[in-house]
Amino acid sequence: MLKVVQLVKHFGGIRAVDGVSFEVQVGQCVALIGPNGAGKSTCFACIAGQYPLTGGHVEWHGQALQALSPAARLRHGVARTFQVAQVFEALSVLQNVQLAVQASRADTAISAFKQLDGLSLQAASALLAQTGLLALADSDALSLPYGAKKRLELALALAARPGLLLLDEPAAGLAEAERASLMQLVKQLAADGLAVLYTEHNMDAVAGVADRVLVLIEGRLAAQGSFQEISRDAAVRRLYLGDSSSPGAGHA
Ligand code: ADP
Ligand code: MG
Repeated sequence: MLKVVQLVKHFGGIRAVDGVSFEVQVGQCVALIGPNGAGKSTCFACIAGQYPLTGGHVEWHGQALQALSPAARLRHGVARTFQVAQVFEALSVLQNVQLAVQASRADTAISAFKQLDGLSLQAASALLAQTGLLALADSDALSLPYGAKKRLELALALAARPGLLLLDEPAAGLAEAERASLMQLVKQLAADGLAVLYTEHNMDAVAGVADRVLVLIEGRLAAQGSFQEISRDAAVRRLYLGDSSSPGAGHA
């Protein structure tokens, strides 16, 4: 279980995250939503290890994370993706994933890339199948459509066999149909036994996907519960529904 207790992150006078507590169980898919600037990415970066905390406590299966580097967190099973997909553009899709598989093996340095091996080929092919990328295995990562690049980033994160997957706006920049299918994949990963925490600013990527929704406003949790529960929350309705009647009509 991921346990976040009174997480605080200030940048000078900016209280980006200001006392946030929540838990994510294995098998759960939890969404952290809120408008731009709410503190979602900062909250993420604190859990994944890009930023030191101003205050609070983060633990995964009882292991305190806040003193560990991102690489050490990865070894403890905590993997993340970024809001803007990051892949090795000079390599093919398959090579990207093979490299990630080999890098995640304790005995293999990333410089061993020149010897992409049969073991990583098998594991990488399985990851491509899992993320719907098999048909694109030999494509250059550089020329991938953005949706496929987001899937590739997911495959790279999964290569480390994480127990906790942190996804910062996994469907950002995708058109409706592609967004829906990517979010079904995210939901499936949780159902298959991962703890998944993802950020999103649109309500429509949350309905039917997240088991639980955390609503962050100005660095604080304003509401949490099922999609139905938070949809009824007055603060959330003000933020997302405004004068319109359909969820997701609000914020960019
Ligand atoms: P979100 O992901 O919800 O859009 P962010 O976590 O990116 O929000 O940002 C939360 C607040 O913290 C914003 O006011 C943003 O300007 C500020 N912020 C984020 N990162 C930094 C940083 N590295 N340095 C200074 N301020 C930052
Ligand atoms: Mg963000």
